[in-house]
Amino acid sequence: MNDIADGFRRFRQEVFPAQAELFQHLATTHQPTALFIGCSDSRVVPELITQRKPGELFVIRTAGNLVPPYAPGADGIAASIEYALSVLEVSDVIVCGHSDCGAMTAMASDRPLDQLPAVAGWLRHAEASKARTEAGNHASGPLKVAALVRDNVRSQLINLTTHPSVVRAMAQRSVRLHGWCYDIASGTAEEFDSATGQFVGIAA
Ligand code: ZN
Repeated sequence: MNDIADGFRRFRQEVFPAQAELFQHLATTHQPTALFIGCSDSRVVPELITQRKPGELFVIRTAGNLVPPYAPGADGIAASIEYALSVLEVSDVIVCGHSDCGAMTAMASDRPLDQLPAVAGWLRHAEASKARTEAGNHASGPLKVAALVRDNVRSQLINLTTHPSVVRAMAQRSVRLHGWCYDIASGTAEEFDSATGQFVGIAA
C-alpha cells in the first residue's frame, strides 16, 4: 500500500502540474468518445493499450469482460452503458478480451467453483460463449481458452445489443461496436471482422 500512496504523491508533485491545463479543462468537461468494456485483469489497462488521456475513454471493467443481457432492475453495468450511449453519446464501443484470461480459463476447465459462488454465478453470463466454442470443436487446454476468449467477445457484443440505449444508438447509426482481443505477451491485438467472422490483427 505504501507504493500506491507514494505513487499518488508522485502524481501530485510531477504528473498533475505538468498537465495542469488538461485537468483544468476536465474539471467541468466530460466528453469521452468511446466506451471501453474490458476485463478487470490488472494486466490489461485500457488507457495504456489505446494511448488515451484522462477524459477520452469511458470504461467498464468486469471479470471476463462480460456484459449481462439487459434486464429490468438495478444493474450498474446496464446503467453505465446507458449513460455512455444516451448521455455521453460515445461513437464507438469496444469489448476487449485478452490472452490468459482467468475467467475464460475457469470456464474452459470445468473445474468446480464451490468456494467461489459469486464467481460461479457471474460466469453464467459466459455460458453462450462456451457453447459457441464447444460447437466449434476447439480441442482443450490453451487452444480452447484462446478460442473461448474470442467467442466470448462475440457473445458479449450480442449481449450489448439487448440494451435499449445501444439499439437506439445503432438505429440512428451513431455508434459502432468493436470486438477486440489483446495479447499480453506480444502487446498485439486483433479485431473481430463481422464480414468474415474472423479476428484480424490490428496493424501496428
Ligand atoms: Zn480476463
